Amino acid sequence: MTEQAPIVIVGTGLAGYSLAREIRKQDKETRIVMVTADDGVSYSKPMLSTGFTKGKDADGLAQAATEAMAEQLNLELRTYTTVTGIDAEGHRLLLDGESLLYSKLVLAWGADVIRLTMPGDAQERVFPINDLEDYRAFRKALKPGSRVAIMGAGLIGCEFANDLRNGGYEVVVIAPSDAVMPSLLPPVAANAVQAELESLGVRFHLETVVERIEAAETGVTLLLANGEKLQADLVISAVGLRPRTELARAAGIDAGRGVKVNRALETSVQDVYALGDCAEVDGHVLLYVLPLMACARALAKTLVGERTEVSYGTMPVMIKTPCCPAAVCPPPSGAEGGWEAEQDGTHVKALFKNAEGDVLGFAVTGRFALEKQALSKVVPPIHS
Ligand SMILES: Cc1cc2nc3c(=O)[nH]c(=O)nc-3n(C[C@H](O)[C@H](O)[C@H](O)COP(=O)(O)OP(=O)(O)OC[C@H]3O[C@@H](n4cnc5c(N)ncnc54)[C@H](O)[C@@H]3O)c2cc1C
Repeated sequence: MTEQAPIVIVGTGLAGYSLAREIRKQDKETRIVMVTADDGVSYSKPMLSTGFTKGKDADGLAQAATEAMAEQLNLELRTYTTVTGIDAEGHRLLLDGESLLYSKLVLAWGADVIRLTMPGDAQERVFPINDLEDYRAFRKALKPGSRVAIMGAGLIGCEFANDLRNGGYEVVVIAPSDAVMPSLLPPVAANAVQAELESLGVRFHLETVVERIEAAETGVTLLLANGEKLQADLVISAVGLRPRTELARAAGIDAGRGVKVNRALETSVQDVYALGDCAEVDGHVLLYVLPLMACARALAKTLVGERTEVSYGTMPVMIKTPCCPAAVCPPPSGAEGGWEAEQDGTHVKALFKNAEGDVLGFAVTGRFALEKQALSKVVPPIHS
């Protein structure tokens, strides 16, 4: 039964399409079906926070139409089709009202945005942006001169802040941390990025949160926990992502922070694999492009018959804040050591060193960002 069934990939984001491309490099024939809840248009998600800087709207950021992808990759694409369950025993994917047999199933269904349940009567002015459709809706609501409040000062919040200022919009960022990108950057580098964003005109309200969003005569009023009131026209919610695990758990597949897989991208259930934002690979949840590309290359080999484990090298993250280019390679969690920094204004080179003086991580901003490649060679790979 399972011999005739296709390889089924759920999700047409960068993880799903990268995997299909990698499989097709080695195997032109095996039947592949891709299932996606969205329209299947191919786009590069990291570009969503560069629309104004690059002069592109949602249509301009789309890279290839669904039909073109299906043809190019010689596969069947089922769009606007939501997976509702997995019958692992029967090798069946449950869709709304029907089921689809698979020989191998790959979960590439991404992560959900964390939605804050916010009191107030202006929820329709709050925009999470985690895919092209979200971005399209946001751009449609944005009018010349709009004032935008961004909840969250992580990588995505800071990138949108820079991009919207480049587009000429008023931008205010609100976040509970005392610095930007607290889970990525050491304070010295975070302060440099924040200072340059402030010079660009971004206003920050840190160490507080939005407690309420109410409709105002024009736009909305945000009530902050510190008692301040801010006016805006639109709100971007960039408070984090959570890998999608619910359907996997319901099917008896082990999940922790993400769908758990080993280095061969195998879940705890036979013939079911996962990669991309939904996956916890050998204990690592890395919601970035480099890890998913490495996984796609390894998993493609496995699916065409040569079981292959992924090997993560160093995984530097580029932060797309052109006012202060930055790159970071965080040290392994729990690593012992400390940051040592060289600084010239907002040009920062911070190295995380252990007691022996080995460099385990780095964060660079401004002109030092040019050293990211060289530093990536010094830092040990995640999988040695
Ligand atoms: C604004 C922004 C900027 C970023 N910048 C960078 C950067 O500079 N560098 C970097 O490395 N990373 C960056 N990232 C992260 C990176 O883009 C993601 O890690 C990557 O795109 C995730 O791809 P994915 O395919 O795993 O998930 P997604 O792109 O989210 O794709 C998930 C797919 O699964 C489908 N799906 C979900 N649930 C179901 C279901 N039940 N049934 C059917 N289909 C379903 C969806 O429709 C979609 O097709 C950025 C992210 C954002 C939001």
